[in-house]
Amino acid sequence: AKGSGRQALRFFDPSMQAALHAKVKLEAELRQALENQQWRLHYQPQVDRHGSFTGVEALLRWEHPERGLVSPAEFIPLLESTGLINDVGEWVLEEACQQLARWVYSPQLSQLTISVNISPLQFRETDFLTRVEQVFHHTQAPLAQLKLEVTESLFVEARDDARDKMLSLKALGVRFSLDDFGTGYSSLAYLAQLPLDQLKIDQSFVQQVLESKANAAIVESTIALAKSLNLDIIAEGVETEAQQAWLMAHGCHAFQGYLFGRPVSVSDIEAAVSAQSRH
Ligand code: C2E
Ligand code: CA
Ligand code: CA
Ligand code: CA
Repeated sequence: AKGSGRQALRFFDPSMQAALHAKVKLEAELRQALENQQWRLHYQPQVDRHGSFTGVEALLRWEHPERGLVSPAEFIPLLESTGLINDVGEWVLEEACQQLARWVYSPQLSQLTISVNISPLQFRETDFLTRVEQVFHHTQAPLAQLKLEVTESLFVEARDDARDKMLSLKALGVRFSLDDFGTGYSSLAYLAQLPLDQLKIDQSFVQQVLESKANAAIVESTIALAKSLNLDIIAEGVETEAQQAWLMAHGCHAFQGYLFGRPVSVSDIEAAVSAQSRH
């Protein structure tokens, strides 16, 4: 009897019902978030071999009235499955471009690049280019300071379309970084065909680089590949000086990770940049 009771529980699982209810609620709240001005951008520093700031990655945060700052892992998939990612992604780009336009008047801040994550779904939309160009037009952002981070999944299907869009944006001065490199499932052949500027070594490899020979080998070959394809290379998720030292010894001289700074508000990043320029 005990056993069948447990069986029944599995079919009428109140926790499953609760999970579904939570998801429906979350989706409704996400639809309101843009109107209610609950989106924020945080910025995480990227540094060169001397530890000087060269740029920042813009990372989306949701300031929920009850739950506080919600992390993207919790809502990006839902934004994508509902199509909301197009409007939210446009908000992110607009916010980053406005920031770049404000920074042009500062000798230090105007040197920084901003890297913006673009969802593959957003990139594949037919009106993606039009929307991006409108944002560029009305923000008047210095586009040479803008990098777009795309992932390998973009190149699995409709590669020619992706390539054409990239070329149009590159003609305006925008650069492209390939995010999470090595975690996708595509072949390497596309690398030679696409107008990329930078490879970003995924943090899963970086964080195990001293413990795992396999990960060290993957990172070494990624650096070699970037060199031979004439691409810049940056390592993300660098948390320790030992990891940074290993990367430098193997030819990677650009870094992002908690060792150099967590994602913070724009005023905090501006303060950090001006503190550094005083030294
Ligand atoms: P990502 O693009 O790979 O971003 C790097 C993530 O690693 C960020 O998480 C960042 O906070 C975290 N990180 C940075 N340094 C370290 C480190 O040293 N150690 C560890 N453990 N983590 C580190 P976050 O901000 O939670 O973002 C997660 C993912 O959400 C991003 O991964 C990206 O895929 C997505 N995302 C964030 N903002 C946007 C956006 O505006 N648009 C789109 N489409 N996706 C976004
Ligand atoms: Ca990224
Ligand atoms: Ca990444
Ligand atoms: Ca990632």
